[in-house]
Amino acid sequence: MPTLEAFAQAKLDALEHAHLRRALTETVREDGIWVERAGCRLLSFSCNDYLNLTQHPAVKQAAIAAVQRYGAGSGASRLVTGNHPLYAELEARLARLKQAEAALVFGSGYLANSGIIPVLIGRDGLVLVDELAHACIFAGAQLSRGKVLSFRHNDVGHLRELLSAQRRAHDHALVVTDGVFSMDGDLAPLAALLDAADAHDAWLMSDDAHGIGVVGGGRGSSFIGNTHVPVPLQMGTLSKAIGAYGGYLCASAPVIDLMRNRARTFIYSTGLPPSAVAAAIAALDVIEREPAYAALPVEKAKLFTRRVGLPDAVSPIVPIVLGEAEAALFASRLLFDEGFLAAAIRPPTVPDGTARLRLTFTAQHPVEEIERLAELVREKILT
Ligand SMILES: *Cc1c(COP(=O)(O)O)cnc(C)c1O
Repeated sequence: MPTLEAFAQAKLDALEHAHLRRALTETVREDGIWVERAGCRLLSFSCNDYLNLTQHPAVKQAAIAAVQRYGAGSGASRLVTGNHPLYAELEARLARLKQAEAALVFGSGYLANSGIIPVLIGRDGLVLVDELAHACIFAGAQLSRGKVLSFRHNDVGHLRELLSAQRRAHDHALVVTDGVFSMDGDLAPLAALLDAADAHDAWLMSDDAHGIGVVGGGRGSSFIGNTHVPVPLQMGTLSKAIGAYGGYLCASAPVIDLMRNRARTFIYSTGLPPSAVAAAIAALDVIEREPAYAALPVEKAKLFTRRVGLPDAVSPIVPIVLGEAEAALFASRLLFDEGFLAAAIRPPTVPDGTARLRLTFTAQHPVEEIERLAELVREKILT
């Protein structure tokens, strides 16, 4: 076999052996919660479409109208000719929702994190990342060419130790965390992280991919309870609860202007299709108009955790950590046979030995089905 193909095959064989080989499965999402896979109709507990807005009539209609008015694609980078009129409205809406001065929309959340961090941190800088933060935060941190360290998950004491030891040797420092952790569903202690960052002249960035739309009255993880934590860099995605596609950063006006000028993933990548931007605007309308609806995913997750006897969910994400990859695959197949889609999440997406089912709850999941799922998890998976 030629060396390139032999190389690829050997890598695949190793993955297969470790139960870590992945494959794409064609999935037709019917209405936001029911999906069709391999001829089976399944209730999905694996989509990030927390508010089922990918299928909302007003959101779809906004996308259709934008295609008709502006076309299927944007045609160029936003700095050239791709900056169609819908962007200004979406950015103003995001900034208002997040109580920030300004916002900038990127091609995706991954592109946002890959672009933002290297603008703020260079070779002489320091990036401190929660160890369980999303892969694209680490990607952005590596691209900065600064020193990258991770602190123990949600351990503000450890962050303070690292800042004390390292901050002085670097020109700038950035602390980055998920606001709602994507694979664990827990929340970052943002107020304490901001205090620690402030005390060491470091900047704080939160990634609210799983917070916007569903926690803090839809405003995200800086707005939980009656307090507002003024995180200076609030990043997130339009691809989950917002039901469309794209990423964003909300920050002060000078920071956003600097991003427009320096973020490489913004400058050298084509603007989003007008339909995605229009859909996001329509989704924000729903979220702002119907706070009770936006609260439903967390309420449904809580119903599940109470039924199973787990600690109360604080986000729409509930992990059932099972250990080895095989155990997670077995549990996923068991639920598939019962009509549920619950994807097994394996390393390297999660640390070794913590393979899991990652269950996500959405506004429209029927209560009886959540109760049936809880019983299966309690009786057949956690026993
Ligand atoms: C999904 C996710 C991203 C990436 O966002 P996309 O818009 O899907 O590229 C970034 N950060 C976190 C925490 C995520 O869960």
